[in-house]
Amino acid sequence: MNSVRIPYGHQSIDESDRRAVDEILRGDRLTQGPTIAAFEQAVADRVDADHAVAFTNATAALHGAASVAGLGPGDVVATSPLTFIASANCARYVGAVPVLTDIDLSTLNLDPRGVSTEVDGLVAVHYAGLPVDLTSLPARPRVVIEDAAQALGARTPDGPVGGCAHSDLTVFSFHPVKPITTGEGGLVTTNSDEMAEALRRFRNHGMVRRPEVDPWYYEIVDRGYNHRMTDLQAALGLSQLSRLDRFLSRRTEIAERYRYLLADAPVVLPPEAPAGSTHALHLYPIRVQNRRQVYDGMHASGIGVQVHYVPLHHHPVNSDLGYRPSDLPACETAYRELLSLPIFPGLTDEDQDFVVASLRSLL
Ligand SMILES: *Cc1c(COP(=O)(O)O)cnc(C)c1O
Repeated sequence: MNSVRIPYGHQSIDESDRRAVDEILRGDRLTQGPTIAAFEQAVADRVDADHAVAFTNATAALHGAASVAGLGPGDVVATSPLTFIASANCARYVGAVPVLTDIDLSTLNLDPRGVSTEVDGLVAVHYAGLPVDLTSLPARPRVVIEDAAQALGARTPDGPVGGCAHSDLTVFSFHPVKPITTGEGGLVTTNSDEMAEALRRFRNHGMVRRPEVDPWYYEIVDRGYNHRMTDLQAALGLSQLSRLDRFLSRRTEIAERYRYLLADAPVVLPPEAPAGSTHALHLYPIRVQNRRQVYDGMHASGIGVQVHYVPLHHHPVNSDLGYRPSDLPACETAYRELLSLPIFPGLTDEDQDFVVASLRSLL
């Protein structure tokens, strides 16, 4: 197989990012310094949330969210089958059981109308960066967590994703292919003072400092972890966040260009955001009939198309959940045909033209 010249996603790092990280390297606090709080405040302001708590990655952040929301043994937590394993594992980590709700082919998100009224929790994944409509749930589960790993910058009619208009907590990822990057990184937003405090303890060993007892005194009040982001990462995140709007508008241009260039091609184009919402366009997942052939042909041309995702019930680790493919027919249909085309801020028009020409020659 040829090496990938045009990946499906890629970070955009510039001189200002390098300067921001270098400044931290020249200072005293590589971690547990003031840049974490500055990054958290900037994200909270951006998404209209009361609190933001940074983590080492979104997987740890989802674990923290599930824990502080009170999910635990005996709880059943719905999520989409068309997502990354972390969306379901956060339920497993706290002893709860995930259940899979089939997707709606018109959004590729879990169909909110299909979420059982019996579930205790919901991890609502905004697939590709398109917000799930949480207002069409038949009933609001006790706990609603938005897995917005792909959706920083998206909006719903009720405000930015992350504002938690219809959820308890929202989780973002800053992995290099995501809307902005900190290398590895994640963050939880919430409007609950108690959950924010619990998240800060969760990521820092369950520790509470009590200088009123003794200047050195601290207590471990609940089971925690070391899931702290570093100041190096937070500085990169702050610098990246200042360019989020530029990243989003370039992604929008690329998506519009695909839509125009592929208008008459025999492919199903990705769902668009409904009126009043905006799409973060993390992925550009088209559907093609001869997916394997197209995948191989594109890779032979150095184009790193990818399949998002191998459905959760296909993984051996989830065999205990007892799903057969026929239980989730819309997800199976999508999975047979899905292929993510390159979309990232640094993709040039020339490279996009090459992607489209290569794709057309394979259809
Ligand atoms: C990327 C991603 C995650 C995991 O994020 P990490 O920061 O890599 O841990 C979780 N859920 C979804 C939907 C993702 O796309």
